[in-house]
Amino acid sequence: TVPLGLSDPTLLRTAAYVEGKWLEAGDGGRLTVRNPSTGDLIAELPALGRAQTAEAVDAAHRALPEWRARSGKQRAQVLRRWFDLVTEHTEDLARLIVLEEGKPLAEARGEVAYAASFIEWFTEEAKRIRGDVFAAPEGSRRVLVLKEPVGVCVAITPWNFPAAMITRKAAPALAAGCTMVVKPAEQTPLTALALAELAERAGVPAGVLNVVIGDPHEIGPELTGNPLVRKVSFTGSTEVGRLLLAQSAQTVKKTSMELGGNAPVLVFDDADVETAVAGVVATKYRNTGQACISANRVYVQAGVHDRFAEALTRRVEDLVVGDGFDDGVQQGPLIDEAAVAKVEEHLADATNRGARILCGGSRHRRGGLFFQPTVLADVAPGMLVTREETFGPLTPLIRFTDEAEAVRMANDTDYGLAAYLFTRDAERTWRVSAALEAGMVGINTGLISNEVAPFGGVKQSGLGREGSVYGIDEYLEMKYLAWEGA
Ligand code: ADP
Repeated sequence: TVPLGLSDPTLLRTAAYVEGKWLEAGDGGRLTVRNPSTGDLIAELPALGRAQTAEAVDAAHRALPEWRARSGKQRAQVLRRWFDLVTEHTEDLARLIVLEEGKPLAEARGEVAYAASFIEWFTEEAKRIRGDVFAAPEGSRRVLVLKEPVGVCVAITPWNFPAAMITRKAAPALAAGCTMVVKPAEQTPLTALALAELAERAGVPAGVLNVVIGDPHEIGPELTGNPLVRKVSFTGSTEVGRLLLAQSAQTVKKTSMELGGNAPVLVFDDADVETAVAGVVATKYRNTGQACISANRVYVQAGVHDRFAEALTRRVEDLVVGDGFDDGVQQGPLIDEAAVAKVEEHLADATNRGARILCGGSRHRRGGLFFQPTVLADVAPGMLVTREETFGPLTPLIRFTDEAEAVRMANDTDYGLAAYLFTRDAERTWRVSAALEAGMVGINTGLISNEVAPFGGVKQSGLGREGSVYGIDEYLEMKYLAWEGA
């Protein structure tokens, strides 16, 4: 293994965490974690099998009565300490993220702040869980609505935001009085385990937050099939989301699904070109294009097209590609060989059908999993880059003439997560925002994620919302009391 340079080496945990114990022996083989920048082995972890996963669910179930009986304020006091510890250990957490995920260190620090913001937000929300009282139509009775925690929850999370995708689920779950079993992506378990270590130091009781590590095909069916699990919250591909929905249907679990996207960007003639370029670079090239709200297709109106294309290309050519630990690096590697192959496939399909490469267009000379930041012009609807999520540093430009045509092309997809528009016309802003089939619309910005905003999609991009004042509802059930004589 390689030296990790953590200021607190005990944050490197290499075993699953169940009921306050680190499970050094797994019944599901071993899992290796590699640095995508170098290919180096970072750690080898014991993986859990189905039986140990069931034990983790049992542990979460045993921990539930005591945790849910605490007041919101009492739970908030524990969560507040977790927030403080995560913030205090930003640098170490960021290093773990760079090591196993590959993003530049500055972005990793940003992710830790974003991850912590959900803990802080739901720490505050824990105190504001409240019900309702109504007079019933009969007049002689009251309708009382109580909010209760759902129970044992499962979080299945992706590798691209190894910290934030966990806290965005675990913080509202714990705030609501639920207990949780987290299954992080197999590429990025170390960040998840470090978060669990900090939760333990914060005083989160044994069994309230558990982290299981292993082969998703082995432990996934246990998490979605176990009748003690009342809720599955997933972030990942639409394909896996569909499978988890089907599996969860057998025991009628509640679900939250943050699935794939195919985000369109609409740049109109009346846009400020510099703002539009900055917005597209921010949404497309952050995390090397590996985000579900990354711009996937950029529609540019004819009057501004060439100026926009030229300014964007200049910015993208200047992006510094390299190891996330190196100074000034803005683009890390892709996560694995399949990810690089997908970008190549989309690129070849487009260029074979007449698209033009404005910059980039092949693997980076560093080799490995690095790819050149790329811009393509003359892309036409129907090409693979417009239909599927590329999940890499490739921006396809599609020219359009009128607004209605652009909106029609933007909506011509089964996905509906994020969409972006750039214009200085207020009426157009309202009209287009209303017409776009998306859960989130960025207007003159490429940065839309924060803890205050409801994150989620429509169509096949998902079910439910995370963050915001609405996010905690995903972890609460309503109970209605009909109180005669009240
Ligand atoms: P990505 O394309 O981002 O890797 P996936 O949907 O494949 O997205 O993975 C997201 C999460 O879903 C990961 O934690 C992964 O281990 C998990 N996962 C993948 N396949 C399954 C499955 N069959 N059952 C349960 N979890 C799964």
